[in-house]
Amino acid sequence: MVEIKTDAALDAMRVAGRVVADALEAARAAAAPGVRLRDLDEAAHMVLREAGADSPFLGYRPSFAPTPFPAVLCVSVNDAIVHGIPDGTRLGDGDLVSIDCGALVDGWAGDAALSFTVGAARPEDQRLMDTTRRALEAGIAAAVVGARIGDISHAIGSIGRAAGYGIPEDFGGHGIGRQMHEDPSVPNEGRPRRGMILRHGLVLAIEPMFLAGGKDDYYAAGDGWTLRTTDTSRAAHFEHTVAVTNEGPRVLTSA
Ligand code: MG
Ligand code: MG
Repeated sequence: MVEIKTDAALDAMRVAGRVVADALEAARAAAAPGVRLRDLDEAAHMVLREAGADSPFLGYRPSFAPTPFPAVLCVSVNDAIVHGIPDGTRLGDGDLVSIDCGALVDGWAGDAALSFTVGAARPEDQRLMDTTRRALEAGIAAAVVGARIGDISHAIGSIGRAAGYGIPEDFGGHGIGRQMHEDPSVPNEGRPRRGMILRHGLVLAIEPMFLAGGKDDYYAAGDGWTLRTTDTSRAAHFEHTVAVTNEGPRVLTSA
């Protein structure tokens, strides 16, 4: 069921979204060669605690997961696409890191993600990150009243395919509100002018993830959570929580 939010709910979700943005920035700022992935999680967790926010990630256990998620932040490095568990692994110079964070404030959720490199980016990594971010921006621009879900999917997918990147089929964006994952789903590829019509008050997490190797294949690592590219190529992931409004798309997870 798709829930349309009131304007007051959108303002409440903006509060949660700002906490997510701050937590992601703290995690990114903590990243450096030799730093452990769990140190990034701790930096994000500190921001959530200081804001009085709960984590929709911590303890989360969807049907595919063998164990509850143990952290507030997903940290996915290099060939990891999404859902990486922040453990004692240490970052190395040139690693491509994707971080994904959620927050719950007064019962409303925010969800966002970004990719960056530790130190200087290889040109091919920079292109992958720039293209994925551009696809997110195109998806957001398509999230206007009267358009359809397929317009968002098409905007994202056509940019990824034109760049020669792979797109995992089973993971993508979603509605968000009191729950982190609500209807409708927002695939990262699709046909324009298909699917649900977008209305004022619909809130979507839009989240392209592109695979540099050009194939769409991935597998779940031994931890049951981390999704990795089958060809070991690198992946990038950018996400914002976005409200469709009569005044245009409103990004709720910007800084
Ligand atoms: Mg996310
Ligand atoms: Mg999401």
